[in-house]
Amino acid sequence: MPTQIEIPHHLLPADGRFGSGPTKVRVEAFESLLSRATDYLGTSHRRPAVKSVVGRIRSGLRSMYLLPDDYEVVLGVGGATAFWDAAVFGLIEERSEHLVYGEFSSKFAASVAKAPHLRSPLLIESKPGTHPQVVADLSVDTYALTHNETTTGVLMPIERPDAPGLVVVDATSAAGAVPVDPAEFDAYYFSLQKAFGSEGGLWVALMSPAAIGRVESIVGSGRYVPPFLDLRLAVENSRRDQTSNTPALATLFLMAEQVEWMNEQGGLAWASGRSAENADAVYGWAESVAFATPFVSSPGERSPVTATIDFIGVDALEVAAVLRSNGIVDVEPYRKLGRNQLRIGLWPAIPLDDVEALIDSIEFVVTALGHER
Ligand SMILES: *Cc1c(COP(=O)(O)O)cnc(C)c1O
Repeated sequence: MPTQIEIPHHLLPADGRFGSGPTKVRVEAFESLLSRATDYLGTSHRRPAVKSVVGRIRSGLRSMYLLPDDYEVVLGVGGATAFWDAAVFGLIEERSEHLVYGEFSSKFAASVAKAPHLRSPLLIESKPGTHPQVVADLSVDTYALTHNETTTGVLMPIERPDAPGLVVVDATSAAGAVPVDPAEFDAYYFSLQKAFGSEGGLWVALMSPAAIGRVESIVGSGRYVPPFLDLRLAVENSRRDQTSNTPALATLFLMAEQVEWMNEQGGLAWASGRSAENADAVYGWAESVAFATPFVSSPGERSPVTATIDFIGVDALEVAAVLRSNGIVDVEPYRKLGRNQLRIGLWPAIPLDDVEALIDSIEFVVTALGHER
């Protein structure tokens, strides 16, 4: 039985969480939450204890992203998936262009395609493991991009096309781990359970004045907007360090801790440097062994946060099962991609030592399964 293979203790990482989301929550952040068990958890989200935590998130992100004064940090309940629907009602005026190159980017495009009040979106697709290029098109008013396609491990640069229109970026797995210039986007939105190592359930959007102007003009046009998805309500509440309905307080707290921790270490430059260093170790290793190779062939498109590594002549699922039985979890491939691969989260909170220990552990398992290195 392969699952009985025992990885020697000295090879194992100190922390075995390498998933692509939810990701490793730092123990220090959790302990900090624990210390607030009776005066924060279980208290009103309209009162200072919670509002000050929302304020810490908003100001922490403002400094992390060096946001221009007229950009706003907006938040709401429901995660990136809810933001897609909010954008369908509140950001896209008539027609959007979508770069589709994996499961998440295609889900947003699918929500838009079904909206009766919008024209059919323009879809620009590319095969898994690559990303398409933005095409300036005067028939669209919104460009929907994805900074890091978590499902395939492809990163694309965020650049404003040379045309009018809002640039709306799903940054769920990139935010907190990949540099970006706020001048290149109008809405940069994300959930908090990826690079920020918090929990699920909330979305945050860094919004330009043009994006907020669009939200206001759509509301003014009389379009029906479901109240839960009303971005104008989200903007108004965020300005008061609140959400329009009850948020997950633990998620907020862990996020505030993580943003401040990252800023103390050196901000986005530090965080992105950490992930890039982890990624160099994994891709460098995958290129050096015969049984593995990076799935994304172009080095410049390889994700620094979610590495997809194809296995050759070794059953990746079997490797993942042995790792799991030894406490190294969530490196299984994204199911729908259907490849013989491991997908490895390389978040800023994961130290290089643990990434190297993961590599040593994988090598040990592959050898134990009877393969040549
Ligand atoms: C995880 C993820 C999502 C979905 O986030 P939820 O919090 O589950 O809504 C969307 N887009 C990308 C790029 C993701 O990585």
